[in-house]
Amino acid sequence: MRSVFLGPPGAGKGTQAALFCEKRKLAHVSTGELLRQAAREGTPLGKKAAEIMKRGDLVPDDLVLGIAKARLDSADCRTRGFVLDGYPRNVQQAKDLDKVLKDMKQPLSAVVYFEVDRPSLIARLSGRRGCPKCSASYHVTALPPKVAGKCDSCGSALVQREDDRPDSIANRLKVYDEKTKDLIGYYKALKLLVTVPSNGGIEEIAASLELKLKGIA
Ligand code: AMP
Repeated sequence: MRSVFLGPPGAGKGTQAALFCEKRKLAHVSTGELLRQAAREGTPLGKKAAEIMKRGDLVPDDLVLGIAKARLDSADCRTRGFVLDGYPRNVQQAKDLDKVLKDMKQPLSAVVYFEVDRPSLIARLSGRRGCPKCSASYHVTALPPKVAGKCDSCGSALVQREDDRPDSIANRLKVYDEKTKDLIGYYKALKLLVTVPSNGGIEEIAASLELKLKGIA
């Protein structure tokens, strides 16, 4: 299966992508994670992206296309299929992606839209914590670690992403409304859109996702 997980920041795309990829043995391609990794490593791309990400703005299309294309072209994506989490984020990126996948002869099977109301999004984003070492993600109330503030997998101290602070959250939601939301109509027109109501808990959303994607290979 080759799919895109679409939705506003805080919709749970990353959490659901990790669970779904584990279950179906797919490659999880998160452009946000690839960019954060580049920023941690201090590569030229990472340096360029870091300030933009901190504000919650979109990194330029050509830079993100470069990392997405390199990852999609890797052996595991080609053989296992993938979930794209956080890419595309505007119509230009969707067109770029169409072209890349067409050239690879690997068209999308489905685009999943995680639909969540605004108050739930803000609660999810502001309570989110992550492990800087192994990238595991938690939430202070919805998915707390066994020991407060420590990663269950590697014991590192959990951190809040800089872009999960109030100013950045507001900007990211604005960017979503202005640029990313158009993709719902774009993929609906291509008859690829599957909507998963996502105000509930992690297990409930995962069950509903599984049901909606049943039979799609
Ligand atoms: P995410 O982890 O998906 O929430 O992404 C975190 C940040 O990385 C975003 O707020 C953007 O600054 C940047 N980013 C991730 N994916 C993209 C993309 N497809 N296009 C532009 N910027 C992106």
